[in-house]
Amino acid sequence: MSKQFDVVVIGGGPGGYIAAIRAAQLGFNVACIDEWKNAAGGPAPGGTCTNVGCIPSKALLQSSEHFEHASKHFAEHGISTGKVEMDVAKMIARKDGVVKQNNDGILYLFKKNKVSFFHGRGSFVAAKDGAYEIKVAGAAEEVIVGKQVIVATGSNARPLPGAEFDEVNILSNDGALRVGAVPKKLGVIGSGVIGLEMGSVWRRLGAEVTILEALPTFLGAADEGVAKEALKAFTKQGLKIELGVKISEIKNGKKGVTVSYADAKGAAQELAVDKLIVSIGRVPNTTGLNPEAVGLQLDERGAIVVDGDCRTNLPGVWAVGDVVRGPMLAHKAEEEGVAVAERIAGQHGHVNFATVPWVIYTSPEIAWVGRTEQQLKADGVAYKAGQFPFLANGRARALGDTTGFVKILADAASDEILGVHIVGPMASELIAEAVMAMEFKASSEDIARICHAHPSLSESTKEAALAVDKRTLNF
Ligand SMILES: Cc1cc2nc3c(=O)[nH]c(=O)nc-3n(C[C@H](O)[C@H](O)[C@H](O)COP(=O)(O)OP(=O)(O)OC[C@H]3O[C@@H](n4cnc5c(N)ncnc54)[C@H](O)[C@@H]3O)c2cc1C
Repeated sequence: MSKQFDVVVIGGGPGGYIAAIRAAQLGFNVACIDEWKNAAGGPAPGGTCTNVGCIPSKALLQSSEHFEHASKHFAEHGISTGKVEMDVAKMIARKDGVVKQNNDGILYLFKKNKVSFFHGRGSFVAAKDGAYEIKVAGAAEEVIVGKQVIVATGSNARPLPGAEFDEVNILSNDGALRVGAVPKKLGVIGSGVIGLEMGSVWRRLGAEVTILEALPTFLGAADEGVAKEALKAFTKQGLKIELGVKISEIKNGKKGVTVSYADAKGAAQELAVDKLIVSIGRVPNTTGLNPEAVGLQLDERGAIVVDGDCRTNLPGVWAVGDVVRGPMLAHKAEEEGVAVAERIAGQHGHVNFATVPWVIYTSPEIAWVGRTEQQLKADGVAYKAGQFPFLANGRARALGDTTGFVKILADAASDEILGVHIVGPMASELIAEAVMAMEFKASSEDIARICHAHPSLSESTKEAALAVDKRTLNF
């Protein structure tokens, strides 16, 4: 007789493993199936985020930032080091160690919460008696049954036709996170979050990095002011960013990769690089899931069709994270996972898409929540803007990092905060206050009246709120 579960989760990334834990907390008998393998063939739950995404990229960003500080900025603090050298193999090994800690942490959490973990590929077999049979193909093969199924199978890097990933010269995010030596010349196609973060890592370590972007505007989703400030900073650091390019051919040879393209003016150009990272977006992943067996509906992009509550077209089947509509972000996947588990338990799980924060972990960091100035203009909303530069913040000066600003956009009539946009040091942490404020429908006056520790970067958020009412105290 097949093992029976109240809830079967397919996929153990941030959407899936969090859904499994929350469902177990709510008293359900839960299974989570994940197929990711570590180098030894063992289980490595955590998905893209843990294995080849959020976590390893941040580990490399940290190592490369230390390297850059030691090589370029220690001297101004009176610290002399002699020639600073980077052992790339050691950096990659440290990153792998950080990934493993996270994999092991998830396996521990499954045990702690009594989630049954299955290592292998899960695929639908049939719908039977109000439940679903799921085949698990791992070291052995078995069929388990779930009354409710949560699909969280994530996404894969989108390949560029004519430039297939070989992970030697043409790299996806996977290969970009395990380059064995600093390339002399690195090309990046796509100036989105992943392209900018990966480009920054290898630029800091000494690569000459050129980023080619098809769109005519830089970081179109970000507030225009933020995107402009970030472009200025990245260019000053030596990242070469070309916008509005049209790629015609990519040749992958023994000595590297040559990209032929027309620049924004239409002139033919050629870029020869040792390695090329292609980061032009990600595609929803349902490989091997066998959705046809039960009639699970996908859209033309291959994403699982869900309603606002993550319900699919099938009763008792839900889908969360990168495999469904919405931003491909780990915290969005987690929120959906929690909300679905709570809905299965008859509670009112909820995800507020209007307050999902966005972060780019470059230097300066970029983070925002809510609407941009250009969106407010397009929506015809009357708003007030307040901006405060880190240049006028004591903590930023002490840190030696005064690039950027905090900008708060508030409704002209009610003063409710509509968007907060930060480019500068620790923007990834500072944005949390803005998310909380927006979740509680705070006004800019609320933030302006809250006591912020001194000296702290967060005082810039308070000052930006004061700036909405044209009464900054330190600028
Ligand atoms: C380089 C990079 C950096 C990123 N940085 C950030 C960041 O800083 N912050 C952020 O919020 N987001 C970041 N992301 C995006 C983030 O990784 C994803 O949004 C997130 O992982 C999505 O979670 P998920 O659970 O939907 O899917 P995934 O994390 O992709 O997990 C899906 C899991 O399901 C498994 N699976 C798939 N099919 C099956 C099957 N049939 N049977 C069993 N298992 C299956 C996969 O092996 C995988 O383990 C980054 C992505 C990349 C590539």
